[in-house]
Amino acid sequence: MIDSFRHKGLRKKLVETIRKRGGISEKVLEAIGAVPRHFFMDSTFLDFAYEDNAFPISAGQTISQPYTVAFQTELLRIEKGDKILEIGTGSGYQACVLIEMGAKVFSIERQKILFNKAKEFLPSLNYNPKLFYGDGYKGLAAFAPFDKVLITAGADSIPQALIDQLKIGGILVAPIGQRDVQIMTKIVKTSETDYKETKHGTFRFVPLLKDKAKGE
Ligand code: SAH
Repeated sequence: MIDSFRHKGLRKKLVETIRKRGGISEKVLEAIGAVPRHFFMDSTFLDFAYEDNAFPISAGQTISQPYTVAFQTELLRIEKGDKILEIGTGSGYQACVLIEMGAKVFSIERQKILFNKAKEFLPSLNYNPKLFYGDGYKGLAAFAPFDKVLITAGADSIPQALIDQLKIGGILVAPIGQRDVQIMTKIVKTSETDYKETKHGTFRFVPLLKDKAKGE
């Protein structure tokens, strides 16, 4: 795949659109500007890669809207070297944005077809998150604790296992709510048993699904 001048130009425009919406730091905008989003989309949708919209990938899932990726990344206050757990690898785009910011990413996906695709494709772009096929509700106890946890699908509540796997002082960001609309929720873990929660507007995500991993 080629990252042409045209793609680079469209990406710059996308960054400007996101900057104008406000609330996104230069560090995050730089990372969005660095990742060639058109590589992550089916060829049918290449022309739409730099519009600020979500788009279908395989298995009935979507690559999140760029502004939403920027917004969740901003809330996480990423620092170089952060160890991050992402639930919902999807296309892998969000994971690559986090890697651009210097984070070490562990990401779980329950759709086998998406997991396989990301596992093969991301290293070819020189992005090397640790990818896992499984149920994000359980997190990754063997690799805990994490500095940050990011859920990229809509959940009706925050899975306790994911709070348990967060460091004290760590941040978890998740869209919480039933059915179509979720409220972007951020928690900061203040002790082994407590956390502070803030809410950051409404968004639409595909659902975080509860039963065991699908797609074998
Ligand atoms: N972060 C992705 C967007 C993902 S859309 C990107 O940048 O492209 C949400 C993803 O969460 C979907 O791929 C869906 O299959 C996955 N998902 C849903 N429920 C899950 C669960 N319980 N565990 C892990 N992944 C899950």
